[in-house]
This record gives sequence, C-alpha cells and structure tokens, in this order.
Amino acid sequence: MSEGPEVKITAEKLCNAICGKTIDKIYCKTTLGNEFANKIKGSDVRYIETYGKNMVITFSNGIYLRNHMLMWGKWRIYDRQEFEEGKSNAPRRSKLKWDIRTTTGEYSTAVEPVTKKIEYANNSSKENGIDVHNDSRVRLMIFTKDKVAVQFNGPILKFSFVNPASLEPITKLGPDPLRSDFNIDDLDNQIYQRIKHNGTTLIADLLLDQTFVAGIGNKYKSEILFLSKINPFVNIKDIPSNSVRTLLQQIPSVLYSGYVNSGATRLVHNSFGKVDNDNNNTRRWSDKHWVFRRGGRPCWKCGSRIVTDYKLSARVTFWCSKCQQWIKID
Ligand SMILES: [Zn+2]
Repeated sequence: MSEGPEVKITAEKLCNAICGKTIDKIYCKTTLGNEFANKIKGSDVRYIETYGKNMVITFSNGIYLRNHMLMWGKWRIYDRQEFEEGKSNAPRRSKLKWDIRTTTGEYSTAVEPVTKKIEYANNSSKENGIDVHNDSRVRLMIFTKDKVAVQFNGPILKFSFVNPASLEPITKLGPDPLRSDFNIDDLDNQIYQRIKHNGTTLIADLLLDQTFVAGIGNKYKSEILFLSKINPFVNIKDIPSNSVRTLLQQIPSVLYSGYVNSGATRLVHNSFGKVDNDNNNTRRWSDKHWVFRRGGRPCWKCGSRIVTDYKLSARVTFWCSKCQQWIKID
C-alpha cells in the first residue's frame, strides 16, 4: 500500500540509485512499453517527482513515465552484478482477498476499486524469495551500470512525450502537503467549498478524495482523524470550526511525519523530549501507528479497544470510539 509519503520515499530511493546514470538496458511489459523503452535506452533519468500517490519519472530524451502503484505496485532496487547472477530475490508475496465494490455498491473489476474488506494472510509459498527473473509480477526493469530498478505489478505505468504533471489525473488533484507549493489556505478554502456544496459527505470519505488532498489513503485517513479527535463517520457540515482547524493542521503534519519517519505516524520520544530514532527504528510495525490496522488492540491514549469498521464509509476505517466520540449537534 503506497500513500503519498511512501511514494515520495520510494521516489527518492529510486532517484538516489539511478538518477544521472546512463540507462543501458530497459524492459517494459506493457502494451506500448517497449516502443518507448527502445527510445529511452542510452538516456538517463533526470529527476523523479511525486504528486500525491503519482510518481513521474523524467528521462533526458524528453520521455516521461507516470506510475501509480494503487494497492499492489512495488519498486525494488538491486545491485546489477548480483541481479545478473540470479541472486536478487523478488519481494515477498502477500495474499489479498478483495471484496470490491464501486461507490454505487455494485461489484466491479474496475482499475481503481473501492475496497470494502481486505483480508491479509501470510503466504509462505515457494514463490517467496524467488529470483526476480522468474517472477511474473515484473512490469519494468531499468538497468544502469551498477543498479537495476524493478517495478512489480504496475498497475499504472504510462509513458508519454508530454509531462503528465500538465495532464489529468494530476491536474485534477488537490494540494499535496508534501510539495513545496503546498499552502494550507488552499485546503481551508477547499473544505469551505465542500461544506457549502456537499456537506453530507462523511469526513472519512472526503479525506480519501484525491481532488481534496492528494496523497491520503486509508492509513493516513485513520491516523489524521484519530489525532484530530474527529469521528470518521460525521458529515463534514457537522464538524465544529475548531475541529476543522485542528484537522487542517493535522493533515500536513501527519503526512510529513510519515515521510520523514519511514511511514511511522506514532513516534517514541526520549527523556529529553526528542524523537528517539534508535527506538523508533526497532519497533514493531503495529507500534508505529495510533489506530491503523490496530483493530482490537488497546488505544495508546485511553486503553479502549480500537474499532475496525467496514460498513459506515467507502473503505475500512480504524478508530477509537472513546477518543473520537460522535460530535453532538445542537
Ligand atoms: Zn482512545
């Protein structure tokens, strides 16, 4: 699962590995991929930018590649020599069961599904740890002299001669709190307009709307609402103005925390009140979040059991019913 902060972290790792280096081989398993791939050979990656959950790779020969990982995409970087020797293992597979519905409630195989329920099961099959060359999920491989960047699953890999930043869907995105041009006043205006025109939208659904804010997915949605002390299933028009202000501050703060702390939104501080990086790096994954995927575990603040809800909004939501009480309407 790659939300805005994780996509930005991945883009930076990728750029550190391959930017500025000549691409001497490229393979792409998409319909038009190899037509562009042949043109890309011999060029280099100039830079990699992110727009919410979209990654845009700019090649020196004027070709662009937009990648959106949805729920399945992954990038991995390998040492070229080890890769050629068959010593590079593909990422571990996780088995996902989908209960896919569109927003109208119909079952669908749409490219960008709204997921009602996700069940995670460990899969220790023989496919874990196999050589990348034998992995059916490989969609793109970029070879430089010393590194190989491999993209698994896609699902969206779109080449173009026009910068995708000037095209939909990127032009339709709301402000991205992780970009330097982010301005909280834009968000303030956005939420005011939403309340005015569609105040019955649930706040949990609004946060997932990429035209409102770019980059928030299920994880950051749950974490932002917990830290804002807002019930996920309240209509946006019913949120008091002081809570709206808290929410507007938490959105960039939580996304930035995830970006600088490798996805962690709950940090441990040492006795001097500073972030304890050693401790944070060794914690279990479930300790790094306030509510996300902590259903049934005790709330870090009040001890109540964290609730997992699949029904009240479009996607699964994790929340604390005590810390995020229903807002009383006069
Ligand atoms: Zn609580």
